[in-house]
Amino acid sequence: MKKIAILGSTGSIGTQTLEVVRCNPELQVAALAAGTNVDKMEEQVREFHPLIVAMWSEEVARDLQIKIADLQVKVVWGMEGLLEIAEMPESEVLVTAIVGMIGIRPTIAAIKAGKDIALANKETLVTAGHIIMPLAKEHKVSILPVDSEHSAIFQSLNGEPAGRLEKILLTASGGPFRGKTREQLARVHVEDALKHPNWAMGRKITIDSATLVNKGLEVMEAGWLFGAGLDQIQVVVHPQSIIHSAVQYVDGAIIAQMGTPDMKLPIQYALFYPDRKPMNGRRVDFFDLGQLTFEKPDTDTFTGLALAYRAAAMGGTMPTVFNAANEKAVALFLDRRINFLEITELIGEAMEHHKLKEAPNVEEVLAAEAETYEYISGRI
Ligand code: NDP
Repeated sequence: MKKIAILGSTGSIGTQTLEVVRCNPELQVAALAAGTNVDKMEEQVREFHPLIVAMWSEEVARDLQIKIADLQVKVVWGMEGLLEIAEMPESEVLVTAIVGMIGIRPTIAAIKAGKDIALANKETLVTAGHIIMPLAKEHKVSILPVDSEHSAIFQSLNGEPAGRLEKILLTASGGPFRGKTREQLARVHVEDALKHPNWAMGRKITIDSATLVNKGLEVMEAGWLFGAGLDQIQVVVHPQSIIHSAVQYVDGAIIAQMGTPDMKLPIQYALFYPDRKPMNGRRVDFFDLGQLTFEKPDTDTFTGLALAYRAAAMGGTMPTVFNAANEKAVALFLDRRINFLEITELIGEAMEHHKLKEAPNVEEVLAAEAETYEYISGRI
């Protein structure tokens, strides 16, 4: 029996993780956490019987407490609640399926408590990878990627000797606006940006996919997870999303992981690694595929990817500024207060405005986040 705790259980990755649990009796849910969605959390608690459940505010947590008063479940809230779940002795793996930098502290707490991390919450690695990766090594815990591209890279590296990697081929679907000009992008609506061609995901990451900022965050995530330099990570646009990513070795061999676009595979792989369990679902049929195509990313139109490489090269607090400016700008776009192109314009401005701090500690990372939020709010 493997016991897991899920931060962000009511979201896209969280609910798919619970689908994996449903199909695998050897997985048991020790704890669940979410922001505000009490109704969904009540359903999940009744089905999966966690020991602890957390909601973000005390008010919402009290609401939940009343709804599940007939059950023996401890209800907690806020950052304290997330930390209690991260550290609880009854769980072996923490699934970080929460959005944003709020995942940093619970991830650190879980590592210190000796838990493996099934990591979907890429913002944590992008902004605090320099703290998290050495800490994981020190505490001998595994950071198991849930992001489909990183799971593909992880699977492609499996069993190969260390130090033989030449480059990572990080695939990107190109999102809903592949091939559009900047003039056309200036006029797209929120609804258009939320229509991803291949994946059904949370709202924030769907917009990040449309701007290619998500691919930029993934470049940084891959750098931390696999110890690769920026010049070893090449983004390849592959609109069919069948090759989830690949690695090229020093002898020129390329090993890729392929499959239908379904997040349950990387989630299940992370939860059972190094084992591989059966999973039902659609299979890739090469005869039905037609063709697999590849393009260079258009970084003149989708400037978010170029900005991500710049932020990663600068390091220190700059990836935090990139990430925080994007979070705020995406929220403004979803509120229809800025247009699509202004998302990456605001990221660029925030990066220009920021005074870089090298090797920041957690407090300094969070201070850079707050400063960036304030800067963007002041601009709008
Ligand atoms: P969603 O928006 O669908 O879900 C976010 C989850 O986090 C919800 O359960 C939400 O709760 C919870 N949450 C938000 N704020 C808080 C808070 N303050 N305290 C506790 N819980 C909170 O996001 P996704 O599932 O799409 O993405 C999650 C992470 O996984 C992101 O980092 C994303 O980049 C990454 N990822 C996602 C992929 C996908 O396919 N969706 C693919 C690869 C990576 P509530 O519902 O109550 O608001």
